[in-house]
Amino acid sequence: MRTMRPVPTKGVLDIEAYVPGKSKAPAGVTLHKLSSNETPLGPPPAAREAAAAALTQLEVYPDGQSSALKDAIAEVHGLDGRHILCGNGSDELLGLLCQCYLAPGDEAIHTEHGFLVYRIQILARGATPVAVKETDATADVDAILAAVTGKTKLVFLANPNNPTGTYLPFDEVRRLHAGLPGHVILVLDAAYAEYVRRNDYGAGIELVSSSENVVMTRTFSKIYGLAGLRIGWMYGPEAIVDALDRVRGPFNLNAAAIAAGAAAIRERAFIESAIDHNTRWLEWTTGALEGLGLTVTPSVGNFVLVHFPDAPGRTAADADAFLTSKGFILRRVAGYGFPNALRMTIGTEEANRGAVAALADFLGRGQP
Ligand SMILES: *Cc1c(COP(=O)(O)O)cnc(C)c1O
Repeated sequence: MRTMRPVPTKGVLDIEAYVPGKSKAPAGVTLHKLSSNETPLGPPPAAREAAAAALTQLEVYPDGQSSALKDAIAEVHGLDGRHILCGNGSDELLGLLCQCYLAPGDEAIHTEHGFLVYRIQILARGATPVAVKETDATADVDAILAAVTGKTKLVFLANPNNPTGTYLPFDEVRRLHAGLPGHVILVLDAAYAEYVRRNDYGAGIELVSSSENVVMTRTFSKIYGLAGLRIGWMYGPEAIVDALDRVRGPFNLNAAAIAAGAAAIRERAFIESAIDHNTRWLEWTTGALEGLGLTVTPSVGNFVLVHFPDAPGRTAADADAFLTSKGFILRRVAGYGFPNALRMTIGTEEANRGAVAALADFLGRGQP
């Protein structure tokens, strides 16, 4: 029988569309956007210049191989370019992994408070997302392994995770990989890798190099300050890179993105100072918020998850409304399973101090 209207494929209408962080403050107050984990420091100036130069040739298609960018990534990270695939943001690569490896009836695992893009892309393929419980807002290797079935094709692990900021030590990632059947791909989403200052952390390069079923995704949207241009990359076994390469759009990165990314990744001094800024203010912000009596999930990223009291007038929704009225835009995270928390991106000194002072006001305790 013919239906009366076009109908999307299985799964599509089960998707709740991704809601990006807010970016508007009321008229008359200064906006401090701390809602999308963007860097407060902007991209390295050389990246801006490279993007501007690319705009003089808008009539020409970009290089479909993103060679300049791939070469720069390979050089800086000491990798073989044949194992790298660039994407229109790492979001595109996460989608391509689902497109190439998931069919209706397949299962893909993500963790309870994992990045929402995984679930969206899994559902878009008509496959079944399997959400696995976390322990202390941290991925639980035993729970993930227990959820693997004969139908599992992908396991997504954001390490560190957004919005919790927690991470798995590399030993645990190895243990997770060791427990997975060979046909399951372990996707290590290392969007915040540059920020992590822990000896027991690894983004996954060694594990990718030594196995056939692990990929690592990275982004230029966070530490490199290029979220607006949409640049991500994946490091993976040749067979997986090859599969995605067949399916991607032939010109998936635009010319400005290729040029700016290649320039940005070589600006090591700028990036190091951006990391130092984050390390310093992540520690300060965590301590200051705890000093106000709020609970903060320990974070290794460029953001903190702040939990609010259940008391009327003191909830995350109340805090969000108050902060917004003062121009501080944080992120509601109810969609991530935290109805009474806000995620705050580490910003400039002014923004961090201002947001903490506003919260002190909100809680009625005076200035910290
Ligand atoms: C920000 C973020 C990304 C980056 O996505 P892009 O598409 O590269 O901008 C990927 N994964 C997680 C967990 C993130 O928080």
